[in-house]
Amino acid sequence: MALVNEHFLKLPGSYLFSDIAKKINTFRITHPKKEVIRLGIGDVTRPLPQVCIEAMHKAVDEMADAKTFRGYGPEQGYDFLIDAVIKHDYATRGVHFSPQEIFINDGAKSDTGNIGDILRHDNSVGVTDPIYPVYIDSNVMCGRAGILEKDGKWSNVTYMPCTAENNFIPEIPDKRIDIVYLCYPNNPTGTTLTKPELKKWVDYALDNDTLILFDAAYEAFIQEDDVPHSIYEIKGAKKCAIEFRSFSKTAGFTGVRCGYTVVPKELTAATLEGERISLNKLWNRRQCTKFNGTSYITQRAAEAIYTAEGRRQVKETIDYYMNNARTMKEGLETSGLEVYGGVNAPYIWLKTPNGISSWRFFEQMLYEANVVGTPGVGFGPSGEGYIRLTAFGKHEDCVEAMKRIRNWLK
Ligand code: PLP
Repeated sequence: MALVNEHFLKLPGSYLFSDIAKKINTFRITHPKKEVIRLGIGDVTRPLPQVCIEAMHKAVDEMADAKTFRGYGPEQGYDFLIDAVIKHDYATRGVHFSPQEIFINDGAKSDTGNIGDILRHDNSVGVTDPIYPVYIDSNVMCGRAGILEKDGKWSNVTYMPCTAENNFIPEIPDKRIDIVYLCYPNNPTGTTLTKPELKKWVDYALDNDTLILFDAAYEAFIQEDDVPHSIYEIKGAKKCAIEFRSFSKTAGFTGVRCGYTVVPKELTAATLEGERISLNKLWNRRQCTKFNGTSYITQRAAEAIYTAEGRRQVKETIDYYMNNARTMKEGLETSGLEVYGGVNAPYIWLKTPNGISSWRFFEQMLYEANVVGTPGVGFGPSGEGYIRLTAFGKHEDCVEAMKRIRNWLK
């Protein structure tokens, strides 16, 4: 008899987006003439940069010819892309890696979810709250999160609230935690940490032998000079952190699928007996066993964004989204609302007025302004009383949505 992994049974159904879809559907049926503007979507809407399209066409042609055809590639990714990553994403910021420290993948979700394969099931976990749900659910699946308690929190997870009250800066824990997830620029709050704030985390990790899992999927959206783009800009981080990057939001790769993970050679973790083991070696072993590489065509597309023309085209798209973010932030502030994020990230984190719950405000905004956001409580207990809006839509829609919200709250 095959037995199931019982930890999966502990996972509550993920109803957030289906609940939202149901509520929108009900509204549409009862108000067929109203046009709803969706500012809740987490997917991009602009097409791929032209350089990527051209690179993919070229790569497809190579696949059509026996002389240039490629079969299985290296599990870790092709050198041409790894070299571009090292040169443009890190060397330009004074951080140096060897090719063996970069692992090309099919997007950050896979590796942020799978990294736990190389870590013991009973490590303690710390997350900022609210949070990208993959960090918690992937730990639940292997039993590392413990059991779900009455307050909706997992017993082996330490939640570090990030709210307007602490300016969205998670407090350094007063106890040891084995693994801490940090995501900056943050989804869902759209906030960032300064270098001194991030340094506090690196120092904590070095003092406590903690592993930081740093998700920088939104790095490309950083606009302000003093915001760190990588955790490795902080001295000592190579000894305590793994970093995840993604081309999804950077260059419209949500459907193409490509990203990468950095596992420095200096990074080690202990066995129960106290022996130090290289996490780079373990991750490489894991990838060679369970992953057969990202497609050649995809990696050629990703390489193209590092050319001068590619960087220009990527910037154009990011500028488009960040212009949306600015329009939304200013529009909401003019309407008298309290908003966060939207400066170095494509997310706006809106505080609901008068302490209304996330879901109540969601429904009011849907019915009275015909605008959709995502209830913040869906991202964790500290998201209650907030709504997430994304800047990935059409500019005209953002302008119209702000007009509607202004008229509604007048
Ligand atoms: N990390 C964060 C914080 C995200 O918000 C997302 C996607 O929304 C991902 C990772 C996953 O990105 P990818 O498309 O690279 O799998």
